[in-house]
Amino acid sequence: MKIGVSSCLLGTQCRYDGAGSKDGFVVNELAKYFELVPYCPEAMVFGTPRESIRLVDVEGEIRVISNKEHKDVTKELKDISEQLALEAFEENLCGFVFKAKSPSCGIERVKLYENNSNMCEKKAVGLFAKAVIDKQPLLPIEEDGRLNDPWLKENFLMQIFAFSDLQKFLDNNPSFKDLVEFHTSYKYLVYAKGQESYKHLGSIVANHDKRELESVLEEYKIAFLKAISQKGNINKTYNVLLHIFGYFKKLINADEKEHILTACQEYKDGIIPLIAVVKLLNLYVKRFDDKYLKVQKFLNPYPKELALRSDVKAYK
Ligand code: SF4
Repeated sequence: MKIGVSSCLLGTQCRYDGAGSKDGFVVNELAKYFELVPYCPEAMVFGTPRESIRLVDVEGEIRVISNKEHKDVTKELKDISEQLALEAFEENLCGFVFKAKSPSCGIERVKLYENNSNMCEKKAVGLFAKAVIDKQPLLPIEEDGRLNDPWLKENFLMQIFAFSDLQKFLDNNPSFKDLVEFHTSYKYLVYAKGQESYKHLGSIVANHDKRELESVLEEYKIAFLKAISQKGNINKTYNVLLHIFGYFKKLINADEKEHILTACQEYKDGIIPLIAVVKLLNLYVKRFDDKYLKVQKFLNPYPKELALRSDVKAYK
């Protein structure tokens, strides 16, 4: 599995001042699970060190201007950004982590200056980030700063692993039966993202119009990627926990029921992390050997060593 990253996040000394911006999570955690593919549009086109640049609003058009010589370098940066975005597309990436606030790599809140002024009330998207988004609008993307938020980090990692699963599934020439299996395994994970998406995906798989497999898969792919791009929250996740509990509530005694429901409530109240409830539910899934629940990605969405569900703040 490959993830694109802004090169400086790996510690590569490619920033305008010759420094890097090593990000601990990218280098120490993501690198364990993904091949990191670095991109630095500015170093490629301007070299390092170089004059710093800024985004400037010139009569409603975003231009890239160098800070000292006030040279307009929009075309150079735009061309290299589009070239690298195409290369990123051909790499079959399953996600991208960009450097925040950079005029090339920032995905939001990049300063956009007024022309011939130091005023910057407006915000924009970096040129390279925009090129990648335009080329692959449904690719999971995040910025280094935002990944310090456990909720955004959990959502992003879940999205990347699901994205990669879909890629592998589609690469294996799936049949209708395979699609039903894939969809079944993501039932509760998608449900935890949004009920509308869940219903929509179900109707695509049901294929009442008897469409060709290829067109069903294409529609499913887009709807699935949109579904997993939504952020989960405590209430939706709590509902999924209750649904799963429903599978064995008639098979267990009153004490066991109370134990599970208390755990679900404590998760909802932010007292215990999700992993505590999931571990408990997994015990019952194993005990009753429930084949349907056993394959649910919601219960095991990514390697447990990432420990993302161990943080109470990973849900809100
Ligand atoms: S933010 Fe982007 S353009 Fe700037 S140094 Fe890092 S990788 Fe290069």
